[in-house]
Amino acid sequence: MKIRFSAEPNSEGASTATSEASPGTGGAGKAGARTRGAGGRDWLTRPEAPAGVVVSAVRRGGAADAAGLQAGDRLLAIDGTPLRDVIDFHFNAGEETLAVELQRGAARTTARLERRRGRDLGLEFEAPRPGEISTCANKCVFCFIHQLPRGMRKSLYVKDDDYRLSFLHGNYITLTDLDEAEIERILAQRLSPLFVSVHATDPELRHTLLGRPRVSRPLLPVMERLARGGIAMHAQIVLVPGLNDGVPLERTVSDLARLHPAVTTTAIVPVGLTRHRERLPQLRPLTPEEARALVESAARWQREFRSRLGTRFVYLGDEVYLMGGAEPPPARDYEGFPVMEDGIGLVRRFEDGFIRALHRLPRPQTPRKVTVVTGEMFAPRLQRLLGGLGVDGLGADVAAVPNEFFGRRIAVAGLLTGQDIERELARRPLGDRVLIPAVALREADGVFLDDRTPADLARDLDVEIRVVAPTPRALLAGLLAGA
Ligand code: SF4
Repeated sequence: MKIRFSAEPNSEGASTATSEASPGTGGAGKAGARTRGAGGRDWLTRPEAPAGVVVSAVRRGGAADAAGLQAGDRLLAIDGTPLRDVIDFHFNAGEETLAVELQRGAARTTARLERRRGRDLGLEFEAPRPGEISTCANKCVFCFIHQLPRGMRKSLYVKDDDYRLSFLHGNYITLTDLDEAEIERILAQRLSPLFVSVHATDPELRHTLLGRPRVSRPLLPVMERLARGGIAMHAQIVLVPGLNDGVPLERTVSDLARLHPAVTTTAIVPVGLTRHRERLPQLRPLTPEEARALVESAARWQREFRSRLGTRFVYLGDEVYLMGGAEPPPARDYEGFPVMEDGIGLVRRFEDGFIRALHRLPRPQTPRKVTVVTGEMFAPRLQRLLGGLGVDGLGADVAAVPNEFFGRRIAVAGLLTGQDIERELARRPLGDRVLIPAVALREADGVFLDDRTPADLARDLDVEIRVVAPTPRALLAGLLAGA
């Protein structure tokens, strides 16, 4: 469902890509791969893939190193329990002494690992290979992957719908293809929280939103079963005007609230539509008026749930506030920012942090002019924020980059391509340095979605380019470096 490589759109559309809004130079961009749960995304194999998990790195001086484990070893079992994947590894690796059965080349052996209390074993595991991730059988009307142009890198077209990725990395899953054994495993191993793409609780409407896949499975009974088993869930609704807004949205929110506290939060994010929607259902984006109405509805729901459940429960993607010209709520209303990585509260968190960091700002010694790249949606707020810098000798201009690659309806930093950024920068004075949002780059190799690199831009534009993480501190460091 939602795969969160840096600079890889998530399948639920630019809406959620937007909802991955990371201000900074991003304003609205992508959060990059997350590693909620037991560990990094590198540790997964499907049940039908070769058994065990493959070690990619062994930290020197750790318990695994002391036991002689090496990169390339395939770990098959712990204390006699076979390992299907990395979750099994962590589930079974809690003891201080472990007998690990492994395969090295053609040889099988057993290593005895001993670790000190509280220390990890010092192991990293290989990333899943193509075909090792469970993919979805849906054709959601808003799926971002269906809206990608042809010819992009293959990994962008992977439609993952894997409960293990949901647990490990916060990817959203539909639960439509979950079989009995998988449900039992989730319950037995307490794979919690999970992140669930709900969209609508009305079964017929949900079936339509999911593109009427061959198998139609009601969602609520599965969620109720998981709830009874103690599994926490974060729900997400991709809002498609005219389909699941209005009365269906009221029903969905109300049905999910009945499952609180198991359903911890419900996030509503607007559908994102690229210009590459050939032969796809005709959809339209949220209008500013609808966005404002949604802000009002959410405020009403939050008041009601706060008094009834003790939590605001429903949260809107930052993009809804920006689209409606409304001010995002104050930080306290996000109740600890539980789903910030999905673009819920990133703008508030970033702006507040930036203003706080300004108070600790060193004075630049030499005049300096910096251009800060972001998407069109967050640009006005970022310009206003930087206008308040008040630092002698420092000039910061925001370059709001129109997204020609995906279409102008996509206005978040995380989906900017190298070619669009270069086109915009080429037509303006750039000053001493350009700051590029890290959220627009793939985390693994620092490449834009169109495979251009920051080095390409630096060469073509003859300017210093710095890639900046989506945090207030990183942005200020980028602005002031060398000052
Ligand atoms: S079709 Fe639907 S479930 Fe499948 S990847 Fe796309 S948005 Fe996710």
